Amino acid sequence: MGREKITLKTNAEILLMREAGLITGRALEAVKKAIVPGISTLELDAIAEATIESFGAKSNFKLVAGYHHTICASINDEVVHGIPSKDRVLAAGDIISIDCGAITPAGWNGDAAFSFVVPGGDEAVSAQRQALSDACEASLWAGIAALATATRLNEVGRAVEKSIRNSGRYGILQDYIGHGVGRSMHEDPAVFNYQTRDLGPVVEPGLVIAIEPMITAGSEKVRILADEWTISTKDGSDGSHWEHTVALHSGGIWVLTAEDGGEAGLAKYGLKPVPVNL
Ligand code: MG
Ligand code: MG
Repeated sequence: MGREKITLKTNAEILLMREAGLITGRALEAVKKAIVPGISTLELDAIAEATIESFGAKSNFKLVAGYHHTICASINDEVVHGIPSKDRVLAAGDIISIDCGAITPAGWNGDAAFSFVVPGGDEAVSAQRQALSDACEASLWAGIAALATATRLNEVGRAVEKSIRNSGRYGILQDYIGHGVGRSMHEDPAVFNYQTRDLGPVVEPGLVIAIEPMITAGSEKVRILADEWTISTKDGSDGSHWEHTVALHSGGIWVLTAEDGGEAGLAKYGLKPVPVNL
């Protein structure tokens, strides 16, 4: 490690990234509102794309070589990278994770994800899936809160892992992790969802990263499906994925992909997001 090339962002650049983050967040909100039993993941993809384009931005997922959609939509035992399809129709009680990103005309990226349990399913199964999603979301906010005061980046992974372990017996994906965000959707540094021996890079103002825990209700072991994209659990247990793009600047921390800048999620840590002021 230590060979990572981290591109720190100026306050002016973070302000431009906020645009990309807000558009990403609004696309995800639009998708969340549309989730009902009977809708296909391809229809959700179209909603995300229309929302992003309504703000004059583009899907950055479509810029990934070989990927042709605006979202990834991963259902039940799929954890991440599920490909939208007209044949993938949501049923009551399914847990779905939606991952999405926008790139603005100025060339800045946002990247975020949420999980959601489709209403109307079997109560016991839905409660388990909701608990899985809640554990993953809580670990995301624990990681974001850790970033606010971290001196080295491994403090984020430690906080994410600790939160997950405190929530229950969940698997943490090992080979899929968070990353820097900027003019590219995926930049250095690597952002682990677990404790690493390496301290990771120094945390300093201008760092913009996507924190994105990916967990399972069973084993951490996953496999890649025949479509060469979808990451599914080996044991068939359910998966969950939550993600935000977060900026650390001289004034504090700002969750770029959250409409409220992270205010609600950070409240229980006694932290307040600080928007950049030029
Ligand atoms: Mg993402
Ligand atoms: Mg990401």
